[in-house]
Amino acid sequence: MYDYDVLVVGSANADLVVGVERRPAAGETVLGSDLVVHPGGKGANQSVAAARLGARTALLARVGDDTHGRLLLDSQRRSGVDTTGVLVGGAPTGVALITVDPSGDNSIVVSPGANGRLTPQDVRAARGLLHGSRVVSAQLEIPLESVVEVVRNLPDGTRFVLNPSPPRPLPAELLAACDPLVVNEHEARVIVGGELDDSPEEWAAALLALGPRSVVVTLGAQGALVATGDGTVRIPSVRVAAVDTTGAGDAFTAALAWRLGAGASLADAAAYAVRVGAAAVTRVGAQESYPTEEELASLAG
Ligand code: ADP
Repeated sequence: MYDYDVLVVGSANADLVVGVERRPAAGETVLGSDLVVHPGGKGANQSVAAARLGARTALLARVGDDTHGRLLLDSQRRSGVDTTGVLVGGAPTGVALITVDPSGDNSIVVSPGANGRLTPQDVRAARGLLHGSRVVSAQLEIPLESVVEVVRNLPDGTRFVLNPSPPRPLPAELLAACDPLVVNEHEARVIVGGELDDSPEEWAAALLALGPRSVVVTLGAQGALVATGDGTVRIPSVRVAAVDTTGAGDAFTAALAWRLGAGASLADAAAYAVRVGAAAVTRVGAQESYPTEEELASLAG
């Protein structure tokens, strides 16, 4: 009997957003709009997305003992995420300093802060959470050695999903545990590391050759592609009026993890995730844009 459908192991950031007429050059100061603070970070986004869809969800992460940390804990709890695995202290909460100009172009500085202090020891100490979860979903905004420690402590029967973002070459031990590895085009190119042509089927084949049990490539408005040793299947997108794609990949991966935990096939889980990703792009923001099960049901297509 599992306590959680999905355990997310990953980052939690406060996104500090200021609108500017134009982004400052070196040495320059510009005035901007009032500050807006959003809860973010790929881990925190994924856990909120899964919980809003109805998954019993827990988050293993680290935040600072500060206002931003409390904001993140609040948003997780309001969404129904179990936060007993969220460690507090050791460094300030991670922040993303974001300036956005009127054309929507942005400049971002990320200070990982407490995310960088989520250690392999922290992962080992959370073995109870790992053992209580059907699916564990991770990304790369925490130390790579901590993500590797997750797969070393993964119980038999618990499925591991990795979105390697921000992308970097991955050790074979980590790749071998992924079922699936979930990538967008940019991540596919970095992880394969060589020249790739323009065919997502080719990217998936090159990724599968690196050792994961399965691969999912997200293709924005084109939907997604799933690949296993048995072949590849394209999952078409739902046509929507896209307003803001921020955090769509996180919603997609969380939804995929939740359906896989519920026993769906990879293709069926990806079809569900494509609908969740499409719903997320119809609203502004990341966590604020994630649909509940009822909102998803009302999405046409
Ligand atoms: P990332 O956000 O990581 O770059 P993608 O842009 O591929 O990833 O988006 C992830 C998923 O979100 C897609 O697979 C798709 O399901 C959904 N999505 C993204 N953009 C759109 C869009 N314009 N229309 C419909 N669905 C979209």
